[in-house]
Parts: sequence; C-alpha cells; structure tokens
Amino acid sequence: GTTWDHEYDVVVVGSGAGGLAAAATAGRRGLSALVVEKTDKYGGSSALSGGAIWVPNNVYLERAGERDTLENARTYMDATVGDRVPADRKEAYLTRGPEMVEFFDRETSHVRFMYTPGYSDYYPEAPGGKPQGRSVEPCIIDGKKLGPEFKNLRRAGLPTYGLTMTSGEFGKLNMVMRTWKGKQTSLVVGLRAVKALLTGQKLLSLGEALVARLRLALREAGGELWLSTPFQDLVVEDGRVTGIKVLRNGREVAIRARGGVVLAAGGFSHDQELREQYLPKPTKTAWTHASEGQTGDTLRAGLAAGAAVDLMDKVWGAPSVPTPDGKLFFLVADRAVPSMVIVDAEGDRYVKETLPYHEFLDRMYEHGEKAMTSWMIIDEWAHRKYVWVGLFPGQPFPKDWKSTGFLKSGETAEELAAQIGVPADRLKATIERFNAMAAGAKDEDFGRGDSAYDNYYGDPTLPNPNLRPMKGPFYAVPVVPGDIGTKGGLVTDTEARVLRHDGSVIEGLYATGNCSAAVTGETYPGPGATLGPAMTFGYVAATHIAAQG
Ligand code: FAD
Repeated sequence: GTTWDHEYDVVVVGSGAGGLAAAATAGRRGLSALVVEKTDKYGGSSALSGGAIWVPNNVYLERAGERDTLENARTYMDATVGDRVPADRKEAYLTRGPEMVEFFDRETSHVRFMYTPGYSDYYPEAPGGKPQGRSVEPCIIDGKKLGPEFKNLRRAGLPTYGLTMTSGEFGKLNMVMRTWKGKQTSLVVGLRAVKALLTGQKLLSLGEALVARLRLALREAGGELWLSTPFQDLVVEDGRVTGIKVLRNGREVAIRARGGVVLAAGGFSHDQELREQYLPKPTKTAWTHASEGQTGDTLRAGLAAGAAVDLMDKVWGAPSVPTPDGKLFFLVADRAVPSMVIVDAEGDRYVKETLPYHEFLDRMYEHGEKAMTSWMIIDEWAHRKYVWVGLFPGQPFPKDWKSTGFLKSGETAEELAAQIGVPADRLKATIERFNAMAAGAKDEDFGRGDSAYDNYYGDPTLPNPNLRPMKGPFYAVPVVPGDIGTKGGLVTDTEARVLRHDGSVIEGLYATGNCSAAVTGETYPGPGATLGPAMTFGYVAATHIAAQG
C-alpha cells in the first residue's frame, strides 16, 4: 500500500474555474477538499479570460426577463455541436449547467453573475440560437475581500486600458466615438475608476472577478489551496485512482483522495511536443494565450492510466496579433471594424473577418500556407474612430510599432502591398471589390455583417455595421493562428468520470475543463462556452463524489 502524507475526500488538480468550482462544491456538500496548483498564482487561463459563462436557460436569464428553455437550448446544441458529442453528455450539460449556476447562487455568498444583454450566441441564426445572447458574466468585485490572497491571484492585463469594465461595457465602449451609448459607458467606467481611487477599492471584473469569486467560495466552503505544488502522477491501486503524487517544497508528497481525484489542470498549449503530435501545423507555443504551466501533465497521466482521449486536433481558436512587446493581442472586437480587411499572403480575402474566433482559425488552417501570413488592414478613418489592437480611437501608434517595422503602412494599396510583400494588383483589386460591396452594404463574397454576432461589436450608425469603404492611408499588422487553450483531452461521461477506450469508468478519476474533451465538440456555441462547461462538470464531479457517501 501507499504511505499517505495527507488525506482529503476530494483532491483537485488545477486552480482555474473548473478546479475551484469542483472544490467549492465539495466543501459545500460537506467534504474536505484540497486544490493543488502548479504555479505560484491561482486562476489559470480562467483568470485571464473574459469570464463569461455560456449556460443556456440559467436563473439569471430568467431574472433579467429573458426567455430561454431547455428545448431551445437542446435544438441549438444539436444544430451547432451535432453528433460529434454523445447526446447524453450534451444533455448532462444542458440540465446540470443551470443547476450549477443556481447552486453557486444559493450556496455561496460570493459567486454572482449578471446577464449581458445582446451578447449574441455565436451562431444566432442557427435553430435555437439567441441573437440577444444567453451568456452571463461575473459581477465586478472588490479584490480587497480576498485579503492576503489578493496578491496570489493571476492577473490578466486584458486590453481594458487599466480600467475595470464588464464585457457588456467593453462592447459599447468600443464605439465611444460613434454612439451615445459608447460615450455614456465611458462616463460610467471613468466614474467607477475615480471612485475606486478615492476609496481604495481594488476592482476586478471579467475572468479575474470570476476567479476571485470562486476563491472566496472555496474559502467559505472550508477548502484548501496549495500553490507551487505541481501534480506529478496518479496513484492507482487495483485499477482505482486513490490519490496523487505532488511536489511540495522540492519533496514528493502522496495525497490520498478518499472520494476521488478531479483533474482540472487545463490543456497542453505550452507543450511544443504535444502540439506537434496532435494539432494542425504549423503550430507554436508562442501562439497561445493560455496561462503558463499548461503542459498537458494530467493528460499524460490519464493516458498512462488507460484513458481515452478525443478532439485532440482542436484548439479554442484565437486569431491574434503578435505585438512588438512580445505579447499576443487576441482579435475579438477588432474584427468588426467596418473599414478593414484581412488578406492572405497573396493579397486576397479568404474568410469572413467577423467569424467567431474559433471558426476563423479553422478557416485559416483550411486555407493553408497562404493564410499563415495574414494581414489585417485598416484605413486612417478607422484608426481615428475605433478601438483597434488595444489602441484608443486616434491614439498615436506606439513608437516600437514603427521602429521595429511591425506596423506596415502605405498611402495607397500599391504602396502597402510593397510593404507587406503581396502582389500590388491583387491587393488593389481586393480593396476595390471590398469598397464596391461596402458601398452597397452587402458583402457578396463572405456575408460579413449578415449575422447578429457580426454586428455585436460593429458600428450601429452604418447601414451595414461591419462594412465601410476604405481609402488610404492604410495600416497593416500580421495575424497568426493563436489559441486561448486546447480543447481535446480525456474522455468523460455524464458524471465527469474519466473513461477507458472500451467505455468503462476509471474509478476515482474525474476531469473537467481543458484537460477533458470538450462537450461542445468542434464548435464554440457562444461567449463563455469553455468556462461554462468547466464549472459545470467540476460541480458535477464533486456532486457525484458526495453522493457516493
Ligand atoms: P485553467 O483556468 O487554465 O486552469 C488550469 C490550472 O491548472 C492552471 O492554473 C495551471 O497552472 C494548473 N496546472 C497545470 N498543470 C498542473 C499540474 N501539473 N499540477 C497542478 N496544477 C496544474 N473562455 C470562456 O468560456 N469565456 C471567455 O470569455 C473566455 N475568454 C478568454 C480570454 C482569454 C484572453 C483567454 C486566454 C482565454 C479565454 N477563455 C474564455 C478560455 C478559458 O479561459 C479557458 O478555456 C478556461 O479558463 C479553462 O479552464 P480550466 O479550469 O480548464 O483551466
């Protein structure tokens, strides 16, 4: 037998939304729970994220007077995810998701969300789709509530200009130069910043707020969190997982899990070897936005224990700009800018620029080598009117954008073409065709602006919120196929139990979030479709363990 150094009912690996949700649930259900986290910060990618959760038919929708039903949600899941994921698992998500949201609302003092009206599903025109959206996001919270744990929270550095704002506000602020709502929102956000300054609040929103709220829930539930404690391996006895081995202060420590081990360690975005083994090529760790330390550790351990894996060739796609400061900028709202095109190495448009980010990435890889050098081109007018790649409307381009040659520019299409190395006649033709279509407010080639999702970040003052003719001077930045995480992993059942190839259960082993194969299959149905399932199946795992007695 194993000599155990510590013993808990539930042992969770990873402190993102999935892991914290699992451990907090365990605590509220009367179990002792420990979360081990590899890095010296808790929160993982969840803390870096937008923090929205896509949980159809949840209680906050109802409270906001927004109608959704299980039937609608099922229709939409079937239309988007299809049969790529077993029906019982999709159904588990649709029924247990709302249950999870209600549980945290009822059983914790801190985990609170609000509805973000208009934050459209990503396929709002599909059967069951909701143009008004069904996502909810965490309410802003004062980080001071975390006390000494504030300093250990992973911080995001999202492009919110040092201001605290919700994603709903971000969507409007984007149009600060164009709409009354945009101006009003900038006032609200500005006043909030002033108030925080005067009162010493440490305001958190988006993913940071989600993780802070879950961290408080864990504390309230009596659960423990050990930082700088990497999971090393599973302990398997007679075919059952009975605990894990971790490194703690340089020493190997065995922790028994009386009820079960919940893996929630995220994906393998930072492991070049696994990327090359599984993902479409080219692929680079430099292209991920995922938090450090996600090297597929629990995936490897699961495989060694005989687990089946699925969806390994998929990432949560995130078309991105590698900026000269060594960071990656995730293009979300920027791809809705009206006088803008994205072209390939030959100067041709090949994709609807406003596509949901994961699908944009699929198109890049389908288009092949030519897409690997893509350029996002805007004109001077757009630069003055819209938020773009982290710059306020009209904000001068940072010095290093020019000095490093990162930002390309040209008075005319021909001049720009020479700068970015694409055939001048092709780029000129692309922009001329785009301008003709934009003048008619209809993108005949790719349908940009036709979906409610395209319009969400678009300019509502234009006949087509996503189209406006372009004219020089032009600016261009490179676009790479980034990711916000990998989506393949251990195959789990309706109770979040890890399965072997023959479909049998590995007793004592559960998984959720990006170390498990996504319940959304090859698609991304709406804002928060990674965090919603991560929290739900964390909750489901802990609930199942509690029910075992
Ligand atoms: P994570 O939150 O990544 O947590 C995993 C944790 O496990 C990490 O802290 C890691 O250090 C730890 N770990 C790894 N290995 C070990 C080990 N060996 N031992 C112990 N611990 C280990 N998703 C949405 O749904 N909505 C959004 O709005 C959204 N916006 C995003 C924006 C950005 C910029 C990014 C980067 C991501 C966004 N995502 C969004 C994706 C989302 O953040 C992730 O899919 C989600 O956080 C995954 O949660 P998780 O619990 O599986 O893993």
